[in-house]
Amino acid sequence: MNVIDLRSDTVTLPTPAMYEAMVSAPLGDDVFGGDPTVQRLEKAAAGAMGKEAAVLTASGTMSNLVALLSHCERGNEVILGDESHILHYEVGGAFALGGLGLRPVPNDAQGRLDLEEVGRTVRGSDVHWPRTGLLCVENTHNRCGGTVLTEADLEAASEVARKYGLPVHLDGARVFNAAVALGVPAERLARHADSVAFSLCKGLACPIGSVLCGSGEFIGRARRYRKMVGGGMRQAGVIAAAGIVALEAMVERLAEDHENARVLAEGLSGLEGIELAPPPQTNLVFFTVAGWDLGHFMQRTWQAGVLCLPEGGRIRMVTHYGIGREEVEEAVARVRKVLAAPPGVRREA
Ligand SMILES: *Cc1c(COP(=O)(O)O)cnc(C)c1O
Repeated sequence: MNVIDLRSDTVTLPTPAMYEAMVSAPLGDDVFGGDPTVQRLEKAAAGAMGKEAAVLTASGTMSNLVALLSHCERGNEVILGDESHILHYEVGGAFALGGLGLRPVPNDAQGRLDLEEVGRTVRGSDVHWPRTGLLCVENTHNRCGGTVLTEADLEAASEVARKYGLPVHLDGARVFNAAVALGVPAERLARHADSVAFSLCKGLACPIGSVLCGSGEFIGRARRYRKMVGGGMRQAGVIAAAGIVALEAMVERLAEDHENARVLAEGLSGLEGIELAPPPQTNLVFFTVAGWDLGHFMQRTWQAGVLCLPEGGRIRMVTHYGIGREEVEEAVARVRKVLAAPPGVRREA
């Protein structure tokens, strides 16, 4: 039985064009500024985001950490959403390594920040108080369901930040999914942030990497912090070569993943007990299963050859480059069989 892997868009394997580019890329020592392929990728990434400069990092987590370090000083506070990836899934690097305080404010169901609460959370200049150093937004928003923040949403957040003199960092691990869903170039979303980080290794199907983009001065600082956290990579053109292919050839096709997610969600929501939470806007499908223990349900779907993950009390299934319409239909059929199991074997004893 073939396994249908819907755990994440990070499970994607490189495309044939990526393998080819990786084998033939001109290389050098990037820590010495000597890898032409890395430079080509950074230039293309900066261009795609409408920023002056960019720096390749090992992961989205590293990009976000380096961005926070570059925007803030030790002892500063960072305002971010209470469902944000930086708060939940980045090992507390901001406070453990950066000496930064994280000040969560509520995310709404769409992943937007409560901007009034942002205003109340910004510190004044009283000698007792830490300084507020940064506002972070996330698009698409992972824990809120792969939801899309519009240009207007981002503009509203950046207006509040500007009012208080704060820079804005956009955690755009899946910002191209947001751009494709909205039908606008990613640059239109990135323009409302001072810095933006996007992943190469998710829906864009690269094996490794993330790119942090911003002003020339900001990226200069970010290069020092990347080196500090161990992210100086030598012949990194090997991975940058795949990144160039991703930017050229893998962005528009994200629409297929969104369409497959819609079909998957439609199929699943027709099954007994399954409720979408919420209906997908991009490539992430979240749902609950009435009458089932979450762990038990997942154990059964894994046995049936459909891999998925739990997230925030729900099941998450993700469509990506490795999943076609056939796999989506087969996954729904397998989940239907799992749900049809006799009640006696359904629940945990
Ligand atoms: C995946 C993700 C990251 C982190 O990327 P890694 O490459 O896994 O470190 C950061 N932010 C968001 C919103 C993500 O989805």
